[in-house]
Amino acid sequence: MPSLIHTLQKLVRKVDQAPNIQQALDIIVDNLIDALKIDICSIFINSPDDDDKLLLMANRGLNQGIVGRVRLSRGAGLVGMVAEKAEPVRLQDAHLHKSFYHVEGSGEEAYPVFMGIPIISQRKVLGVLVLQRAKLAFDSDDEAFMTTLATQLANAISHASRSGQISQLLSEDNVSVSCTLQGVAGAPGLTMGQAVVINHGVSLHSVPDKNVSGDQAILDEIINFDESVETVKQSLYEQADRMKESLPVEECALFEAYAQMLDSGSLIDDTCQLIRQGLWAPAAWRNTVEAHAEIFTSMEDEYLAERANDILDLGRRVLQRLLSSQSRERNYPQEFLLVGEQISAADLASVPLDRLRGIVSEHGSGSSHVAILAHALGIPAVMGVANLPYTRMEGLTVVADGYSGKAFIDPKQSLKQELQQHIADEQSLTDSLRAIKDKPAVTTDGFRVSLFVNSGLMADLTPSLMSGAEGVGLYRTEVPFQVRESFPSEEDQFRIYREVLKTFQGKPVVLRTLDVGGDKPLSYFPIREDNPFLGWRGIRITLDHPDIFITQVRAMMRANIGLNNLHILLPMISGIQELDDALILIHRAKDETEEEVQQEIRFPRVGAMIEVPSSIYQIDEICRLVDFVSIGTNDLTQYLLAVDRNNESVAALFSSLHPSVIRAIEQVVLGASRQDTPISVCGELAGDPIGVMVLIGLGIESLSMSTGSLPRAKKVIRSFSMAELKAYIREAEGTLEADDIRSFYIEKLEQRGLGGLIRAGK
Ligand code: PEP
Ligand code: MG
Repeated sequence: MPSLIHTLQKLVRKVDQAPNIQQALDIIVDNLIDALKIDICSIFINSPDDDDKLLLMANRGLNQGIVGRVRLSRGAGLVGMVAEKAEPVRLQDAHLHKSFYHVEGSGEEAYPVFMGIPIISQRKVLGVLVLQRAKLAFDSDDEAFMTTLATQLANAISHASRSGQISQLLSEDNVSVSCTLQGVAGAPGLTMGQAVVINHGVSLHSVPDKNVSGDQAILDEIINFDESVETVKQSLYEQADRMKESLPVEECALFEAYAQMLDSGSLIDDTCQLIRQGLWAPAAWRNTVEAHAEIFTSMEDEYLAERANDILDLGRRVLQRLLSSQSRERNYPQEFLLVGEQISAADLASVPLDRLRGIVSEHGSGSSHVAILAHALGIPAVMGVANLPYTRMEGLTVVADGYSGKAFIDPKQSLKQELQQHIADEQSLTDSLRAIKDKPAVTTDGFRVSLFVNSGLMADLTPSLMSGAEGVGLYRTEVPFQVRESFPSEEDQFRIYREVLKTFQGKPVVLRTLDVGGDKPLSYFPIREDNPFLGWRGIRITLDHPDIFITQVRAMMRANIGLNNLHILLPMISGIQELDDALILIHRAKDETEEEVQQEIRFPRVGAMIEVPSSIYQIDEICRLVDFVSIGTNDLTQYLLAVDRNNESVAALFSSLHPSVIRAIEQVVLGASRQDTPISVCGELAGDPIGVMVLIGLGIESLSMSTGSLPRAKKVIRSFSMAELKAYIREAEGTLEADDIRSFYIEKLEQRGLGGLIRAGK
């Protein structure tokens, strides 16, 4: 039925463009009436505050004034029946059905032909679409069409519901923006403060076209343009300098790179060219910036899209200058969160960092530059918050939960108190845990556990060292690669690795070779694949690019001279051949380095990450080739359960406490112990108090986690005996679900008065 498919596509496009959910629903009912030749079309949606009630939210064909008045209980009437059964219902004469319920004053009496389609998202019925007619029965084609439409609608409704739009629509007070929004975790921590909205002021597309004529006028435009660019560039360099007080030089490279974009010949030349053709500078600049940004946007790559944002952000800054709208001096509250459509790394540099408590951004992800910098500064960040009502948020209280990716906007008094309590609890827990900072991580019966930190930023190093960590269990070398605009040179890398190894002198430091691809792209090394997690990533890339690999390993080996605490870790090992090939290259890098420095250097210990399921079944063979193995529970869980670690739709299925994951870890522990190979865990599970209990119970003696997780992990270890933790593993053996395993361990923690270690929302 080509015409219906066409109708559907058109309708979906219109719905996508609707400014809010109410208009989207109205568009649907209006269009369906015409397209399907029906008399009545209605959309019922679940009440946000009572799952048992369905509210009539949009209608055409019934008597006026009925929308908003009709509330049906689930199971009541035909609409309730559709919701209850979660199946489509078609009836020739609805009035004869035993569940028929007549809504007084609706005017539906003359339309007995009925079709109800449930709107379902993630197993949950969100609402019901209802079509009614006087005569002609609905057929299976109509049902198929409407079911397809309902699946599309489900996304919009689910989104609107999560972003608080539906509650807002129904609330008496339509001006309130109070809501809880789900974004993605950008940088960890829980924080509260007043919103300061970053408004980039002038918008490029609102610049009108204007012509200039005459040599002098054109020259004036070019001079004005050059001065504006120069001023912005200067202020970016100043900001980079200011950031150097808070961030190490390495991360400041980002700001300089940002300023250097303004040196790019094409941005400036293209603009001047347009001015010479008679366009005034703001419009010439707008055209150039939008054209450059468009090139990146159309590349469909998250990292390149970020570059487009950088260009647009620079564009707005220069435009602001060009239009001489001096940036107002702002008064920043004592404790504030930066909020906006797109918080840029440069925005961070222009605010008083000592008062900045958090970041909430409508766009961006955990891998955005601003998130990486926020992490380095210890500032919680929530990114990618769809429908963030930032234009109405100035001055409102905002809570950002950088662990779960939730943003609470203007929380109601009771929620606010609850959140304040969480923040206070977290603070006092952190304070109390300081007391055990210098104590060893040893169980009550004397089993010693080594605790290491995961790192990737220079800014992490000092806090990591201060945390009492025994070394770095995982240094993600891709992070310094990500904050740059091109591959770092061997010299750049040498400086970074030297600093890391030196900071932890005398303690082991595990540098992982470049692990990009999948969800960790590099802007300057685009990889386009349909299935990136199963594609070219980790060791696969570096083996295919021995130039990148050898340069990196040489930098590591040179950095290790005289320190000898380097361990090299190979990511994403899926078979023996990869390991053999990598070891050959590492040997080559050693020979080359020795030749270059004219001295013998010590061969570092080399380990393999166990994060691809195939490696579990070759664990003995792998162990025979390496000095240690480290389990990456993030990817191991993702691949074992076939659940994308970044996909919100399947997030509920992602659990490293899944019995299969625990069994897989057990197999790795057994294999490593058969071969007498040291084993550690460096995925997120290692920093989760329950994960700590499970992993130690399985016999793991070494854990690596983010600095912030370390005190809690130590507290858990010091509160239980090894005998108890082993007994818990046996007791929980038959448990079938991850949630039940979690509950089992929570109970054990609570019995020991340690329930507070498990943060709410986890
Ligand atoms: C892992 O996969 O568990 C891991 C530690 O590596 P990353 O999170 O960097 O992929
Ligand atoms: Mg991994």
